Amino acid sequence: MWHCIRCHFNLPRDAAHPAIDCFGIYFVCPKCECHNRLANYGKNGRVSLQKSRVWESLMLNAPLLRLEGDLFFQHEIRNKRFQIQVTLGCLTDVFGSDGSLEGDRIAFLANLDQILVVAKNKVMSGLNSPIKLSATDFRFV
Ligand SMILES: [Zn+2]
Repeated sequence: MWHCIRCHFNLPRDAAHPAIDCFGIYFVCPKCECHNRLANYGKNGRVSLQKSRVWESLMLNAPLLRLEGDLFFQHEIRNKRFQIQVTLGCLTDVFGSDGSLEGDRIAFLANLDQILVVAKNKVMSGLNSPIKLSATDFRFV
């Protein structure tokens, strides 16, 4: 059973149709059309899709901190823990949040893969905590 992060709809695995884009594998919720990320945990070349564990660990271990409209969360990149800041402009202008706490949470989760890709690129280029992500960082993603 897969669970939609936005509307909490439970979908039997057989009914989900996984698809792929440049950020990885996902299934589309039939109720709200939210893209839910999946990851392949199969071994020896077999494909075994599950809900992305990055999301689960983020939701369980790292509650989102909201400060003056910006979201902060902790994430480990290359064995080092970074604080990542997603700015209000990024959440509303790029990810379409309505600015409410729930809107920010959904926008954050629905775009987490992009957020992590951009954050990782910033870490690789030598930036340190807090890794600040603004709207301009996502123009070309
Ligand atoms: Zn849904």
